[in-house]
Amino acid sequence: MRITCPHCRESVATRSSVRPNAALYWAYAQCVNPECGWGGKIQIEFVTTRAPSQNPQPDVQIPADPELRRLLREQLLAGSY
Ligand SMILES: [Zn+2]
Repeated sequence: MRITCPHCRESVATRSSVRPNAALYWAYAQCVNPECGWGGKIQIEFVTTRAPSQNPQPDVQIPADPELRRLLREQLLAGSY
């Protein structure tokens, strides 16, 4: 995934990420364009689950994607789970 500057659309360099919880990253971004120079924080969050983990951690709760919910409901109704 290429991340670009919100102002000039040049690439940004990222560094020193922190992970406040298992589903969230914060990284500090710096625009590489010397004529722009914007810097700030970006956030990446795991927001839905599309395929459940085979090794789930009890403290990680990432809601099911609506598509996964629909598939699970169909499997339940078909009695094939
Ligand atoms: Zn920029």
